[in-house]
Amino acid sequence: MESISRRSFVSGAAATGILATFGGLAGCAPQAVDSKANSNSEGILDANSLEQKWSFEVPPEPISDSDVAETYSAEIVVVGSGLAGMVTAVAAAEDGADVIVVSASSKGISRGGSNFGFGTKAQQAHDISITKDDMRVYMKSQLGQGSFLADNGKWADILNHSSEVMDWEIDKLASKGLNVSLEPGFTDPDGVLTMPAAAHNFFTDELPLGFKDGAPQQVNAMVDIFTNDLGGTVYFDSPVVQLTRGGVPNGIEGAVDGCIAKVADGSYVKFEASKAVVLATGDFSRDKDMMAKYAPWTLKTFGDVLTFDEPDYNVEANWSGLMPGDGHKMALWVGAAWQKTPCAPMVCNGCAGPTRQGPMGNFFGINMNIKGKRYFNETTNFSYGGFAITNQPKQTVFGIWDSEYVNTQASWDYYGCTVDAVNGCVPFTPEEMTASWDANIEAGTYFKADTLEELVAILAENGLEDTEAALKTINDYNRYAEQGVDEEFRVNPSELFPISTPPFYAAKSVGTQFLTICGGIRTNSQMQALDASDNPIQGLYTTGIMTGDMYGNVYNFVFPGLNLGGVCGTLSYLLGKRLATQ
Ligand SMILES: Cc1cc2nc3c(=O)[nH]c(=O)nc-3n(C[C@H](O)[C@H](O)[C@H](O)COP(=O)(O)OP(=O)(O)OC[C@H]3O[C@@H](n4cnc5c(N)ncnc54)[C@H](O)[C@@H]3O)c2cc1C
Repeated sequence: MESISRRSFVSGAAATGILATFGGLAGCAPQAVDSKANSNSEGILDANSLEQKWSFEVPPEPISDSDVAETYSAEIVVVGSGLAGMVTAVAAAEDGADVIVVSASSKGISRGGSNFGFGTKAQQAHDISITKDDMRVYMKSQLGQGSFLADNGKWADILNHSSEVMDWEIDKLASKGLNVSLEPGFTDPDGVLTMPAAAHNFFTDELPLGFKDGAPQQVNAMVDIFTNDLGGTVYFDSPVVQLTRGGVPNGIEGAVDGCIAKVADGSYVKFEASKAVVLATGDFSRDKDMMAKYAPWTLKTFGDVLTFDEPDYNVEANWSGLMPGDGHKMALWVGAAWQKTPCAPMVCNGCAGPTRQGPMGNFFGINMNIKGKRYFNETTNFSYGGFAITNQPKQTVFGIWDSEYVNTQASWDYYGCTVDAVNGCVPFTPEEMTASWDANIEAGTYFKADTLEELVAILAENGLEDTEAALKTINDYNRYAEQGVDEEFRVNPSELFPISTPPFYAAKSVGTQFLTICGGIRTNSQMQALDASDNPIQGLYTTGIMTGDMYGNVYNFVFPGLNLGGVCGTLSYLLGKRLATQ
């Protein structure tokens, strides 16, 4: 009876385009994998261990047909209702493709809200011109920062189509009441990391901070478009647990032609795909074994903040890991290969202090470690600033400045500010900026003193190990500022300001912030999954953060919002269009 009524509900949903759901998450976990790290027989890893398999690489028992309660069919089955999955679905469905979305989450989910794009109508509205020739140069520099390891074909698709796809998104989202704004650009005094305003935020009057509230609104607008405007169906609360290849669960021959989801009552539902299965299941930062194998540096660096308990498929803004890598595992089980480049951690938050280049800047003044030493050229962005902290003793550093620093520029952007303040966030005046420092002192996150000796004494109570070295570093820095030459890291003279006018300020940073791990299944530039010989597996595609070989080593925010805008946006849109016309 229950099965019949559920079937009736779902087919009705498919017919009318309303959302279908199989119930809550309880009991919906995919096939469990042993989370213990692998080892040889003595429990000690050695070179031979590389030949061994991790438990997540071993396919579970195939689900038998007799366990499948219901079957649905479409041309394209998209797995995952994050931004990547929903953009793929909408792009394909609006060109007439028959698309089903199957997702483990209970709604469209996303996080953040910076969407990279260039040559867009939003930029034109603010007289910001970035041509493809300009972008070619930025991209060459960025690909060089990743040693040209990334799949340049995917980047070329972004170079050639970002403008058209971001304009499409702007129009689609405007139809659902979302406005667009632009985060301020980043200016590197040396030019290397400069990027004009290219991160698009989507916002409403109720939620004006698009950089943090935009993406969840974007993805649910896409769900709305897919279901209500295009008549598609999203099966929520339905974790996919196995793919079918050649008609066989976890098969390794023929085309991938469907997938099987486990629903709340423990039964299985099969989704047949005549053209393609698109995996868009997010990252794998919630699986410790996968992190150990594919992202060992990230696991070591962030092991104390990452959590590896039961997956939460609805996780949005979070700093302790996101998804359990189900899509990656299922693709491996049917013969897909892992990407060739190292997986790229996305981290942010450099040394704390007033950032002259807006919220994505590192603090450009003295960045000092607990030994009282500067450790790099500080004039970088907050991601590179964060990576630099991870190499410092106890991952602990201090930013130091004086009260005059506030007058080094007329206004101060903070997180939420947008070009021309279209969302109502107005940059701070110097007076407001000083007030914000004092608020931080009140909150205990900044320190303040009338003399440099007092300031380093406070820092000594907060982890600074060598006050003499710290004072020498500050005095040396003041000499560099006076002479206009930094004798250590040669910081651009335009950023050398003496620390000489009391009161003096400092901020402490411990570690940096983990966001996600980018990468996964090896794909060609058309996002088609490849096997170990680089041959495409017919019918299987991946997109979103799990896209293979997208980044050369780390996600560095030089292209702010590249994942939401470039990968979940441009590449997913192009994939949807290609599949629709295939
Ligand atoms: C706090 C924070 C802020 C961020 N801000 C930004 C930003 O501003 N700009 C940016 O570019 N990037 C940002 N990121 C990175 C961001 O997470 C990704 O860019 C983006 O959300 C990835 O989208 P996705 O669609 O690939 O995956 P997700 O958004 O993770 O979506 C995956 C979907 O797949 C579903 N799923 C998982 N497993 C299964 C399964 N077995 N079966 C069916 N469905 C499944 C999930 O439930 C979900 O619906 C941020 C990350 C964090 C942590």
